[in-house]
Amino acid sequence: MVNYALPDLPYDYSALEPSISGQIMELHHDKHHAAYVAGANTTLDRLVNARESDSYSDIVGLEKTLAFNISGHVLHSIFWKNLSPDGGGKPDGALRAAVEENFGSFDGFKAQLTQATSSVQGSGWGALAWEPLGGHLIIEQIYDHQSSVSNGALPLLVFDAWEHAYYLQYKNVRADFVTALWDVVNWDDVAKRLEAARSGIIQ
Ligand code: MN
Repeated sequence: MVNYALPDLPYDYSALEPSISGQIMELHHDKHHAAYVAGANTTLDRLVNARESDSYSDIVGLEKTLAFNISGHVLHSIFWKNLSPDGGGKPDGALRAAVEENFGSFDGFKAQLTQATSSVQGSGWGALAWEPLGGHLIIEQIYDHQSSVSNGALPLLVFDAWEHAYYLQYKNVRADFVTALWDVVNWDDVAKRLEAARSGIIQ
């Protein structure tokens, strides 16, 4: 059985200040992300029990819970690596070219992802993703962790828009948090993810 584990942050809790406070980072990683990891593992165990006891009426609820928790683990694992105290600015090379080809300009891409993240209704994420069937970049609004997601699309850059990601520092003004996130985007990490996604074998 696969067991998920909470990855360490690649930097100190306070490393992303002033964009994100150390207090938020500590709670976000140690409590929220940890809860999704624990939830994924617990749900896998419950699915084992359901199979062994022929409790297949529990499947619908358990699979939905599994998707919620695994997706939360996946998105947060990407989110930490998408950010860096040395981040910010604009991408270059193949990523810059792909952004300009798909969104017209970097500024157009930035405005669209900013709006997508800021305007999520309730809890969710804004994401830049690689859509393999069409072979292009798309921007998605992810509800919770997994709703409104294009099947097979790979998230490359994700912005957490849940209140736990910003409320202690930005109160109700989510848009200011999104603006501050751009100052710590690790473009090298996003570029590596694009390169890996493009090299995948798509059928
Ligand atoms: Mn979060």
